Formats: sequence, structure tokens, C-alpha cells
Amino acid sequence: MTPSRRVSLAIPVFNEQDVLPELIARVTRVLDSIPGGPHEVVFVNDGSRDQSQALLEQAAATDPRFTVVQFSRNFGHQAALSAALDHVSGDAILTMDADLQDTPEVLPTLLERLDEGFDVVVVRRVGRKESAWKRAAYHLAYRLIAKMSEVPIGVDAGDFALMSRRVVDALTALPERERYLRGLRSWVGFRQTTVEVPRAARAAGETKYSFAKLISLALDGAFSFSIIPLRISAAIGFAAFLGALLFSAYAVYARIVLGQSPQGFTALFVAGTFLAGVVLIAIWIIGEYVGRIYAEVKRRPIYVIDSITDARGRRHPR
Ligand code: UDP
Ligand code: MG
Repeated sequence: MTPSRRVSLAIPVFNEQDVLPELIARVTRVLDSIPGGPHEVVFVNDGSRDQSQALLEQAAATDPRFTVVQFSRNFGHQAALSAALDHVSGDAILTMDADLQDTPEVLPTLLERLDEGFDVVVVRRVGRKESAWKRAAYHLAYRLIAKMSEVPIGVDAGDFALMSRRVVDALTALPERERYLRGLRSWVGFRQTTVEVPRAARAAGETKYSFAKLISLALDGAFSFSIIPLRISAAIGFAAFLGALLFSAYAVYARIVLGQSPQGFTALFVAGTFLAGVVLIAIWIIGEYVGRIYAEVKRRPIYVIDSITDARGRRHPR
């Protein structure tokens, strides 16, 4: 439908030396089969400490479609994805992981949906091939975030998606430092759809997401797209207040009508610690927002670039 279309692949890379040869081979094969072009692949090396940079530079030197943006240190997956989006120039942009859990071979299918008039085609991963506890954690996190969010964030939708140029322009124009891209992507709007694809296991190497990074991603999802946590703490506060009112009415009744004197050290202790807990959690919730506001007002860049290796394989230090 659009024969002159240029497709860009945006791929963050962090210590992926084991998968890069296969990734580069498969991506090359897929791009060769797509009409239009010239297509491109923008790799963002997120401060890898292995041979990733050398492998990527070698790929850029042999294939003019490959460019490499190298960070000055590890800034995280979402920062790397943002950088990739800042550097792609194509008309249709695919964001995908380097570990081949996002299979590049689905690209033609996604392009068909774009041709039907959609601006965003999100890949829903069905059948995660990971440990049971991790699957359960993802399941819970996605549903919680989707429930709380003020924009419809697709359940089981990650960062694997094909976007039109205007969606990427809208995304890169967003001013916030905190990038929860799958949320921002639905916030942008336009016509969005999903495609179901069985999710592959990582081709080689280990997950680069530590437990702490996963928790922090989930918190970003919960706190960046809603103020519902604040409302929940308000609801608990009101419930506790109501409970206290009812109990004091009962205490007055017990004293005057039943002639009982006040009693119950245990009840007092439980109520005291319960309320202290509720208050501390409420303060933490406020703190999450204050911390996020603090990070935003500092207006630091999302990432710092060390070098860019261009399509001719030439490395330009910053
Ligand atoms: N990644 C990154 N920076 C990081 C962590 C991960 O650029 O700090 C990249 C990683 O190379 C991969 C993608 O983000 O391409 C997803 O990471 P991973 O596969 O380890 O996450 P998982 O699939 O286990 O959630
Ligand atoms: Mg992965």
C-alpha cells in the first residue's frame, strides 16, 4: 500500500553479546523481505560492559542500515528506548527487545495492520515462557496498573509495538523525564490495536531486569498514570475515622447504659499500631509523588550519549 515506506527498528541493548549475532542475522533477513526502504535499525547500547558495543559497531560497518547510539553509562531500558525513538527517522517504527523475546518476524503482520489505518499496533504476548513466580508477578502488576490508570493501558502489552511516525513524534515531544513508554504510548491516542503473538523465551543470556528494576517499573506504571493511590489512602482514612466514631458512640452507651468502665489494653494497642501503619503508608504514597515531582523539576536529560556510530560505520564521540 505504501511502497516507499521506510521502517525503523528501535532496539535497546544491555550486555547482550550472546544474542546479538542471531539478532542481527534475523533482523537483516526480515528487513530484506520488506518492500520500500531504505530501512534502518537504531541500536542503543545502554552502557553494556561486555562485547556488545564492538559487535554493534562491526554490524554498522558492514550494513549501512545499522546505527549505534552508545550511552555514557547504564540509564535503563526505558531511557534506552526513548533514545532510540529520538534517533529513528522511518515512517513506521518498531520498538523491540534485543533478546529475541520479541520476534522480528512478526513485522510484516504488524505492517498490514498499519496499512489498515491503525497508528499503533501493540503486540500482546500470550504464553510467557518464564518462571511461575515471574509470570504471576507480571500478571498481577499488569492488571493492577491497568485498573488504576487513567488511560487504557493494555493488559500484557509491553514495549513491543509498531508505531506510525506521528505517534513517535508525539512521544518524543512529551516533556517528562520519567518514561513509562507503554503508558505514554496509550496516552498519545490515535487508532490503536493489538495483535496476539506467542511470546518466545529469551534466545540467550540472562534477564537484564533485576527484581528491583521490575518493582520500580511497576511503581512507575502505578504512580505516573493516576492519583488513585492517594484516593485509596483517603478512603482508608475515612473508614478508620468512621470506625472510631462508631466505637466512641458504643463506649458512651456502654458507660452510661450498661455501667461498664473503659477496658481493653489489647484493643488499644492494635488500634494504635494499625493507625500508625495506615499513616506511614499514606506518607509513603505522598512521598512517591513528591520524589517523582523532584525528579521532574530537576529537568535532567533522560540519557547522556557517549558516541554515535553512523550508517557508514564511523564512530562519532560526543
Ligand atoms: N535493557 C536495557 N537496559 C537495562 C535493562 C535491559 O537496555 O538496564 C534491554 C535489554 O538488553 C533487552 C530489553 O531491555 O533488550 C529487555 O530486557 P530483558 O530482556 O532483560 O527484560 P525481560 O524480558 O526479562 O523483562
Ligand atoms: Mg527479555
